Amino acid sequence: MEKYNLPNLAYGYKDLEPYISEEQLMLHHDKHHAAYVNAANALLDKINEARRKGTEMDYKSVLKSLSFNVGGHVLHEKFWENMAPHSAEASRGKPAGKLAEAINKEFGSFERFKTEFSETAKTVEGSGWAILVCDQEGKNISLMQIEKHNVNYFPEVKILLCLDVWEHAYYLDYKNDRAKFIENWWNIANWEEAEKRFKV
Ligand code: MN
Repeated sequence: MEKYNLPNLAYGYKDLEPYISEEQLMLHHDKHHAAYVNAANALLDKINEARRKGTEMDYKSVLKSLSFNVGGHVLHEKFWENMAPHSAEASRGKPAGKLAEAINKEFGSFERFKTEFSETAKTVEGSGWAILVCDQEGKNISLMQIEKHNVNYFPEVKILLCLDVWEHAYYLDYKNDRAKFIENWWNIANWEEAEKRFKV
């Protein structure tokens, strides 16, 4: 199987300030995300070695860990793309076009969506994510709450927008104030990227 790689960010480490600090973003990307990539690759090595040698594996433990680490990698890849500097056109504060229509149809208004997404993020128990998804046909959009990187997530949905609310995403900048982080995060949400995913 192909190895996973840590992607470069499309912006500089300081570019999401003052909403996410350079130190916070650097640690999150270079340490936390990198750790998931490395752990996923180490598991792939372990699986390949067992296959090559024809030895046994602890499937439950190996696959559980693979799900957690690959989930962490994929969600972080999407998360970096779901943000853009506040000054960029992409972070204009609200969606446009078909995604705006779909959000209005489902939630009644963009404000209602924003409130629901924020509450979804605030109420994640422990470490996890708030995500806006659509089905493969692009018909229905809905909110999901992922615990850790892989729990409560159902298959066959496309992730349009995701927000990491693990403490490692905000603790340096916001201490325990997850709600403030979420409130500020809307300033750097990349709507262009969410619209692009909705179309594909
Ligand atoms: Mn994270």
